[in-house]
Amino acid sequence: MSRIASILIPMPLPEAFDYAEPEGMGLAAGDHVAVPLGPRLVRGVVVELRAAIGGNRPLKPVAERLDDPPMPPGTLEFVQWAARYAVDTPGQPLAIALRGARAPKPRPVRVAVVTGAAPSRPTAARSRVLAAAASVLPPAELARAAGVSSGVVKGLLADGVLRLEEVISEAAFGAPDPSLQGEVLNASQVAAANVLADMVRSGGFNVALLDGVTGSGKTEVYLEAAAAALAADPDAQVLILLPEIALTQAVIARVAVRFGAQPGEWHSDVAPPARRRVFDAVATGRCRIVVGARSALFLPFRKLALIIVDEEHDTSFKQEQGFIYQGRDLAVARGRIEGAGVILASATPSLETLRNAEQGRYRWLKLSARHGTARLPDIDLIDLRETPPDVGRWLSPPLRQAMAETWARGEQSLLFLNRRGYAPLVLCKACGERMTAPDTDSWLVEHRYTGRLVCHLTGFSMPKPSACPHCGAKDSLVSIGPGVERVEEEARELFPDARISVFSSDTIFDAREARRLIESMAAGEIDILVATQAAAKGHNFPKLTLVGVVDADLGLRGGDLRAAERTYQLLAQATGRAGRRDRPGRALLQTYAPEHSVMQALRAQDRDAFVAAEMSEREMAGLPPFGRLAAVIASGPDGAQLEVFVRLMAEAAPNTPGVEVYGPADAPLGLIRGRRRKRFLVRADRAVDLSAYMAAWRARVRPPGAIRVVIDIDPYSFL
Ligand code: ADP
Repeated sequence: MSRIASILIPMPLPEAFDYAEPEGMGLAAGDHVAVPLGPRLVRGVVVELRAAIGGNRPLKPVAERLDDPPMPPGTLEFVQWAARYAVDTPGQPLAIALRGARAPKPRPVRVAVVTGAAPSRPTAARSRVLAAAASVLPPAELARAAGVSSGVVKGLLADGVLRLEEVISEAAFGAPDPSLQGEVLNASQVAAANVLADMVRSGGFNVALLDGVTGSGKTEVYLEAAAAALAADPDAQVLILLPEIALTQAVIARVAVRFGAQPGEWHSDVAPPARRRVFDAVATGRCRIVVGARSALFLPFRKLALIIVDEEHDTSFKQEQGFIYQGRDLAVARGRIEGAGVILASATPSLETLRNAEQGRYRWLKLSARHGTARLPDIDLIDLRETPPDVGRWLSPPLRQAMAETWARGEQSLLFLNRRGYAPLVLCKACGERMTAPDTDSWLVEHRYTGRLVCHLTGFSMPKPSACPHCGAKDSLVSIGPGVERVEEEARELFPDARISVFSSDTIFDAREARRLIESMAAGEIDILVATQAAAKGHNFPKLTLVGVVDADLGLRGGDLRAAERTYQLLAQATGRAGRRDRPGRALLQTYAPEHSVMQALRAQDRDAFVAAEMSEREMAGLPPFGRLAAVIASGPDGAQLEVFVRLMAEAAPNTPGVEVYGPADAPLGLIRGRRRKRFLVRADRAVDLSAYMAAWRARVRPPGAIRVVIDIDPYSFL
């Protein structure tokens, strides 16, 4: 009997499309296929097969079954679940899940292999080549390894002693060895590791919060849980998610040492052929440990036994563009679908996770002290109203003095400022014009390294003009406020002999460079590091004893739902870099609001008090984690048309108990790339299925072609 194949296509289509299965193709769910869509053939994945019942209209046939490892059932279910949760089309998460399959296969390389024939003319150089040929290398590399000229290798090829063979290089996903010894754990680490290992060994879906102060050894502990998972089942796979590429590099190195094998690496900076190799090796089960960024959640794991989300509170887990999702929440969802263990690790867990732990839904494991003799740093506030920096400078006298003392002791300082570039605003002192990106409500940020003004929102950039584009005044543009490049300039003036580096996403372009900088900081080759959040989390720098936070109030401005929580987390992380092993550390926070509850909690290192106060405010307002939020962002080129549409949309909002709809209102970023933007905010009680509500609302409106409606479940940005 002929069958109908439902095919999911990685495009924004509302549902899977039906095709006829050609006789004898023998499709199964998860198979990759090529199907006709309009005039083209596109890749898709079989979600379901059912018997064709007579009388159906004729369907186009599946064109071809592709030679890729099928998408495992768990991955397929996860993709569909994620789409429903995010109120988006299933093609969006599917596109992420197929990124690896669509990357080009690594090209075969020609390597020299020994044929066994005896050389006609044995020489010392030829023997060296034959010895080196045991490791099967391309001819040029073989000559280099043997320390001979390429002519010697060519001679052996001509002689028939060596022969060329094409191979696909298999990345070194050696089998991890969980029986290798990790560090000897201290008593509280052992206690936590045992609970996690038992959880993993007993199998099934369970979530644990590994809550430990910075430097307490959370990584050591979760690697033990990974070892337990790998040892319990020879096919088990482990996924470790991290919020920053720089952090993936550090963890990859630790995994390689702990298990004697290189893990799969997955993030935006992995080149397509390497991506393809990881994808295939995960799908076939050869790659058993993946260390990556949030999109690694969509890899086709065959037997995912454990997911670790390190720095689980980090807002970088929220993807804001394209398919909008919170990676930490999807990690828990994937764990449930796969029947896998999930470990959320942090020194400053999100309120959502803490609430789940308090309610007993997650196991809660605590590491309350740093490993060994290391102590947490002393934290002091510098009141900028009392000891301001000089005019046009950003480092106050007490911070400068602490830096001088640190430098004199031969120790390192970290200056933390979460702002890229040289200055966040450029304005004309003649006419007051603020430089903004064209058709966008966002200031242009000055970058001195490149001499350009850059819009961090749209990527627009232009050379810094010599005259004001508005009034034409010459040399009238002034830089307002500091970014990391400007703080670096000041540090160089103060410490001309110090070795100073900047770490931000503008100065560090790829994973290798990030790794190099982190390593040279760890090796003590940098005296002062000026860094944005990209370098201020998770790393261990043994000689770093002073952290100076240049503008502790920065994140509190704008005041969205999570401003206080995020500021607390970020500054606790940044200050937590100070002091390791035998060297006590110190952190200084420059603030204009030393009385603010966040500053007081940081100074007293009293997370519990801060969390309790923040929780009770959220509870009173019914905000997450006590209620749910969703945002709608509607945008279009024509303000009047947008206005009419959002009014209609407001009227169409379903009336449901426990749901409140606020808006429409102008978005704070009211104009981006020429598109006007309006927002709604929806608050719902926890018992409400907010995704279903939003889907129902969306189904009631039909935006005109020029208008785009984006739904953001659990928004982190309110701009
Ligand atoms: P966290 O992830 O909690 O910040 P890490 O696991 O990175 O902590 O540990 C902090 C530092 O202490 C690292 O350099 C780590 O190697 C070291 N460390 C932690 N636990 C131990 C241990 N039991 N034995 C030796 N070194 C340890």
